[in-house]
Formats: sequence, C-alpha cells, structure tokens
Amino acid sequence: MEGMEKVEMRVQNPIERSKNFNEVELGFNKEEAIKEASRCLHCKIPKCVEGCPVNIMIPEFISAIKEDDLEKAYNIILETSSLPAICGRVCPQEKQCEAKCIRGIKGDSIAIGSLERYVADEAIKNNFKSLVKKKKNGKRVAIVGSGPSGLTCAGDLAKEGYDVTIFEVLHKAGGVLTYGIPEFRLPKSIVDNQVESLKQLGVRVKTNVPIGNAISLEELSKEYDAVFVGSGAGLPKFMGIEGEDADGVFSANEILTRINLMGAFKEKAKTPIKEAKAAYVIGGGNVAMDSVRSLKRLGVETHLMYRRGEEELPARLTEVRHAKEEGIIFDLLQNPLKILVDENNNVTGMEVVNMELTEPGEDGRRSVKEIEGSNHEVKCDVVVMALGTGPNHEALKDSNIKLTDRGLIEVEGTKTSMKNVFAGGDAVTGAATVILAMEAGKKAAKDIMDSIGV
Ligand SMILES: Cc1cc2nc3c(=O)[nH]c(=O)nc-3n(C[C@H](O)[C@H](O)[C@H](O)COP(=O)(O)OP(=O)(O)OC[C@H]3O[C@@H](n4cnc5c(N)ncnc54)[C@H](O)[C@@H]3O)c2cc1C
Repeated sequence: MEGMEKVEMRVQNPIERSKNFNEVELGFNKEEAIKEASRCLHCKIPKCVEGCPVNIMIPEFISAIKEDDLEKAYNIILETSSLPAICGRVCPQEKQCEAKCIRGIKGDSIAIGSLERYVADEAIKNNFKSLVKKKKNGKRVAIVGSGPSGLTCAGDLAKEGYDVTIFEVLHKAGGVLTYGIPEFRLPKSIVDNQVESLKQLGVRVKTNVPIGNAISLEELSKEYDAVFVGSGAGLPKFMGIEGEDADGVFSANEILTRINLMGAFKEKAKTPIKEAKAAYVIGGGNVAMDSVRSLKRLGVETHLMYRRGEEELPARLTEVRHAKEEGIIFDLLQNPLKILVDENNNVTGMEVVNMELTEPGEDGRRSVKEIEGSNHEVKCDVVVMALGTGPNHEALKDSNIKLTDRGLIEVEGTKTSMKNVFAGGDAVTGAATVILAMEAGKKAAKDIMDSIGV
C-alpha cells in the first residue's frame, strides 16, 4: 500500500565502509522516524511487547515519536530498559519484538529496533535527563563485571538509592559491548555514554580489578550487603587440531579485543595484529562475522570458513548481507583439519576438507560429514577461531559456589548457593544476548532489593 512501505535505514557505502571502522548503519532522521512510526497499528494486545525480553512498552513509545515528543518516548523506554542506544543497535529484533509484529504477517514488521535507536540517540544528543534517583539508603552492593548484566543491575539498584560499586578486570567498562562488538556496529562513544550515565547516578566503576585474585568473592560478600556476579562467558573454544598453537592463530575474542579495546588498527598500536595478507575466520555466528569484517577493514584478504551451508549460518541475516557486500569471501561446507606452519611455527595455510549435508534426521536436522578424498590446502597467515565461548570463572576462585553440570553458575532465580551472592547473564546461561543479560541484571536487582531490603 502506498506510503506503508518500511523505511529502510541508510547505510554507509559498502566499498567505503570496508575500509573504515565508522558505523555501518546511519540511523533515522526525524522525518524517517515519524514515517516509520506512523505504520504502527497500535494493536489492543501488542504482541511486540510480549516478544521483548524486558517488555518495553513499544506502541506507547512509538506514539510519542509520532507526536515528536522524544523526551516522553525516552522515559517510556527507560521504565523497563536501561541501555536503549545499545539494544536499538544490537538486539536480534527479527527474532523478538519485530517477529511478533502484526504488520509482519502480510509485509514488513515495524522497524522497532531502529526507532528505539532513534529515540536513544536523540536523548544523548539533547542530553535528556534520565529517571530521578532516590536518596541513598546506606546499603552497599558490589557488582563483578561491567557487561550489560552488571551495568543493568547497577543502574536499577542505584536508581533506588543503593550504593553500588562495579569491579571490572579490564581497563575499560562495558564487557563485550566494549571489547567484543566492533565500533562499526556499536560505536564505543555510545557505550561510554551509558557508563557515564550510571556514574551520574552515583555508581562507582573500579577497573583493573580481577575479582578472585585481587579480592576474593568471599571477601566481597563480607564487605558488601550483596554481590552480583555478571562475569560473562569470555573463555574461547578451540578445535584441538594440529598446529593450533602456531603464531598467527587467534581466538575471535583476542582479535576483537586487540582491535576494539587496544586500537590494533591504529598506527603505532602497542598490540598490532601481525602483518597479514590472508586470514581465515572459522565459524558462522555473529562473532565470526564481527571478526572477519574487522579484519577486512585492516586491508587483509578475508575468508569465512564454515562447515555447513549458507542456510545453516547462525549469524543474523543482516550481518551476513553486510559481510557479503563488503567483499568477504564465504568458503562454505569446508572444515580445517590441520594448520600448516613453517620452521618458525608461523601459520602458512591450512589443510581443509570439503563437507556435505546429510539427509534430515528424525528431528529434522541435517548434520554434516566429510567428503572423502576432498582434502586440499589453502594459503593464509592468520587463522581466527570463532567457535563459541564458555564461562571464565576466575572471579569464583577459592569460593564454594555451586556450578551446574555445564560448568555455569547454578542459580535459583538469580540467587547462587552463596549467601547474598546473586548471578546472571552469560556466566549463568552460557553465551547468549545483550537483552537477556540485561533482563537477568534487572531480575537480580529486584531479588537483591527483596533480600537485603531498603
Ligand atoms: C563479538 C561478539 C558479538 C556479539 N554480538 C551481539 C549482538 O549483536 N547482539 C546481542 O544481543 N548479543 C551479542 N553478543 C552477545 C552479548 O554481547 C553477550 O551475551 C552479553 O554481553 C553478555 O553480557 P554479560 O553481562 O553476561 O557479560 P559480558 O558482556 O561478557 O561482561 C562480563 C564482564 O565481566 C568481566 N569479568 C570477568 N571476570 C572478571 C573478574 N574475575 N573480575 C572482574 N571482572 C571480570 C569481563 O571483563 C567483562 O567485562 C556478542 C558477543 C560477542 C563476543
């Protein structure tokens, strides 16, 4: 129907952007936002709200955009979400709120994420004040880790008058938002701004403090009325193949940390990525896409190698599309068997085998198997393993906290087996999403308030 088409967000030109780290998506302007907001049907029972893990009152904030009352829209979002500029950019909306949008049945869903981002960006630009904090109540809470779960828990408690201190092992706060997700998807100024608003609420952020080594969890729990552990799942997995210890093999987390946090792409960087001509990133998820797209921006010939086919790629469709537009070479249905090295243990290539999908099993899933005799070699000097991550429990060292069979922190609600110690986010669920980590942080804040009182 005329005038009812979805407003697509403008993006940087693919050739240009594959050479810089500036944000790929450029956001809505006022006219575009109001036009997109006008497509909302304002359903009586809004399914989009059910699809949002933190139940943002979506039709209400969209109405406020239509009225061009952005301060109102911002405060509606803030009632349930504390990091809208981040979620508007990185949430998998196509599987959440937008997947439930009634408009999506016959056409395109409302671009809810883009509208959330618009409101949050305007709030930053115009310095809108966030919700008022209450008077300090004298209760002290320690937060381990400054990722989305820790930041959200800290924000919710500080607003209610709790004295909150975040302990972060790295030199910068933000967790994966800072060291993992690249600048071209999530500008670091946005993350810094969200951390700064927490500081304005009175939250103290202590960086370079490895809990478990500098201070034990036990000591923290004695010193504070409650502790929240949001230490994430940053421990990389490897394939266990020959040559994986060679110079030139990285985990995705290391490559992204070097680029995002240590500025490896800048001249005279202290932790440069070794001069590379060709790099292979192994994996097919969002982390693999972030790694391969980051390496492309360093001027390296970049390949993504995935053992299944295009349809099975677990990454978001937008990320796959953006990667292709930027010139990433997709080597699908291939798997490395061995990393090849020279006499100095530097990577020179990989021995690779072709794979094929099997017929679907009873569960409808197709697995993959090697094609006999298809072994071949590829040349490269960097290999990045993006195969998923597990929890790194350094923070729990010497504590008796209970873990699950999968090695994750065991919780009841958000309560751990240690008195007044709560946990949430990737350390509890395994690698998941920003919004789920935020939801856990919110629940923990509520449980802490119920447990230690005001
Ligand atoms: C490259 C990458 C891209 C991603 N892209 C997306 C995306 O687009 N959308 C999305 O929804 N999700 C994405 N995710 C997943 C998402 O970022 C995570 O699910 C989310 O950040 C988890 O939040 P968290 O607070 O549990 O932990 P984290 O964000 O991992 O934060 C944990 C923090 O704890 C700190 N810490 C750990 N141990 C200690 C210690 N002993 N003492 C003190 N501090 C400690 C860590 O340094 C870290 O800062 C991505 C993940 C990665 C790795």
